[in-house]
Amino acid sequence: MDKYKKSNELLKKARELTPLGAQTYSKSFRYYCEGYSPSFIERGKGSHLWDVDGNEYIDFVCALGPITVGYNDERINEAIIKQLEKGIIFSQPSPISIELAEKLVEIIPCAEMVRFVKNGSDATEAAVRLARAYTGKDIIVSCGYHGMHDWYIGSTANHRGIPKEIRQLTKSVDYNNAGALEKLLSEYEGQIAGVILEPIQGNGPEEGYLQRLRELTQENGAVLIFDEVVSGFRYAMGGASELYNVAPDLIAFGKGMANGMPISAVAGKKEIIDLISEGVFVSTTFGGETLSMAAAIKTIEILETENAFEKFWSLGKHMKEGLENLISQNNLGDVLLISGLGPHCGLIFKGIGDLSYLDINTTYQQKMIEEGILSLGINNINLSHSKEEIDAYLIAADMGMHDIKK
Ligand code: PLP
Repeated sequence: MDKYKKSNELLKKARELTPLGAQTYSKSFRYYCEGYSPSFIERGKGSHLWDVDGNEYIDFVCALGPITVGYNDERINEAIIKQLEKGIIFSQPSPISIELAEKLVEIIPCAEMVRFVKNGSDATEAAVRLARAYTGKDIIVSCGYHGMHDWYIGSTANHRGIPKEIRQLTKSVDYNNAGALEKLLSEYEGQIAGVILEPIQGNGPEEGYLQRLRELTQENGAVLIFDEVVSGFRYAMGGASELYNVAPDLIAFGKGMANGMPISAVAGKKEIIDLISEGVFVSTTFGGETLSMAAAIKTIEILETENAFEKFWSLGKHMKEGLENLISQNNLGDVLLISGLGPHCGLIFKGIGDLSYLDINTTYQQKMIEEGILSLGINNINLSHSKEEIDAYLIAADMGMHDIKK
C-alpha cells in the first residue's frame, strides 16, 4: 500500500540483511499485517509513534513492555545525557550501580542483593544457574516464557540447535495448577533445583496459588524464582511479591525497569545471589553500563511520584470494561476473549468455522492500524496514556469488530 511505501521498501532490504528483517521475533512483520502496516518506526513521543512514511499511531505495545513512562521522556533523556557527559562505562564500577541497587532493595520486598545484566533472558539464566548451584540439583520447572537461553527455549517445541541432554533438564507446568507441580516434585524427588514462573499470567493467580507454590518449593528444597520481566514495574512498585504478599527466593526483572534502556536484574536472597562471589559465573562486559542505570533511577522516581500503578490499573479497567461492552454489543463472544489484569490486558482471538484465529486477528488488526492504533491484542498501559486515548482505542476496536462480523 502507498501509505506504507517507505516501510515496505525498507522491509524488502531488511529481509536481505537480517533474519525476518527485525532483531526481535515479535517485532517482525509476521506479527503485523504485512503490506498493510508500518514495518519501521522513526520516532516516538509519549504514547505516540511515527513510522518512516509519516503515519502517526497511538501505541499500546510499548515496545513489548519496556515503555512504562512514555517514549522519549524529557526527564529520563536529561538523566541519561547528564550521565553520558560523565561517561558510559568505565574500568571499575561506578557509584550509580550502587545507587540503583540500593533503590531496588528498598522497593522490592524480598530483595537483599542485586546483580545487573542486560536482557530478561540474562536475568532468568542467572537465576536458574544460582538455583542449581544453591541446591546442587539440576532439574528446573518452568511456567511461562523465560527467554532465549538453552535451558528454557530448548524445553519448548520447534526450537532447533539445542542438545537433547539440556532439553531434558527443564520440565514445564501449567499456570494456576499447583497439583501439577506437586506431581512433578514427587516424580523427580530430590532432583528439582528450582521453580521459575511468571507470577502474573492471563487473569492472574487464583487465590492461594502462589502461596501454595511457596510452600511446595520450601518443603522440597527448591528455589522459587519469580520471572517478573513482564510483570515488574507494571502492576506494583514491588512487583507480584508485593501485590500478592508472597516472597520468592529470587526475582528476575527486565523490560520496564528503565523505560526502554537495556538493563535487567536478578534480585533476591543474599545467601543465594552472593554465590556469584563464590564461583557462580554471572558477568557481562556491559553489566555496569551507566546510562541505563541513570534511566532506571529516573524511571523508578517518576513511577513512584506520579501514582503510576494506580493510573495503570484505572486506565486498564476502563479499557477492559469498554472491550467487554463492545464484545457484547457486537455479539462476538465466540471469537474474542478478554484477557489480562488492567495494566496489561486486551483481546485474545479464537478461530471459528473456516476462519482461523489468525484470519480474525488480521482483519481486526488491519482496521486498528488504519485507524492509527498499534496493538498486539494484549496491551500495555504506560504513564503517558490518557483516558481519551483509551477511548480512541475503543472506537477503533469497535470498527475492527464490525469488520470481523462482515
Ligand atoms: N521473561 C519473560 C516473562 C518475558 O516475557 C521475556 C521476554 O519477552 C523474557 C523473560 C526474556 O526477556 P528478553 O527478551 O529481554 O531477553
